[in-house]
Amino acid sequence: MPEEKVVTKPLPEVTSVDREFWDSIQKDVFKLQKCLDCNRLQFFPRPVCVHCFSSHLGWQESKGTGKIYSFTSVFVPVAPAFAKQVQATGKPVLFVLVDLDEGLRVYGEVVGAAAPDLKIGSPVRVSFETVEGTSFKLPKFRLSSA
Ligand SMILES: [Zn+2]
Repeated sequence: MPEEKVVTKPLPEVTSVDREFWDSIQKDVFKLQKCLDCNRLQFFPRPVCVHCFSSHLGWQESKGTGKIYSFTSVFVPVAPAFAKQVQATGKPVLFVLVDLDEGLRVYGEVVGAAAPDLKIGSPVRVSFETVEGTSFKLPKFRLSSA
């Protein structure tokens, strides 16, 4: 009998560019990268500012709140680990684009909600979710009313 291959979702490969972001996530703090020259925010972390190309970057704590800009329900994920999640739960993986209160658009998975619960404009907040079988947390979103 063939041995069943364990399929797990990949964890982030933390680099010197995004270490501050991931370390903060582990402490339930959502930080955005901030350019110290033009003062604009960016997500996801990068080695330079996407607005002025400065490498003089810092961090700003985000409230982690915002509103759904758009969303999608993924019933047939390409990645095997996500496909396994859909098989196990019988529910699609829910992804959202969120306009944060800080004026930045970010993306992520929604947990604790079903597809019919998602509406454009619904308030959401970042939720720090521990990856099963690890102690590593990922930022996801929950509806603010949930
Ligand atoms: Zn800049």
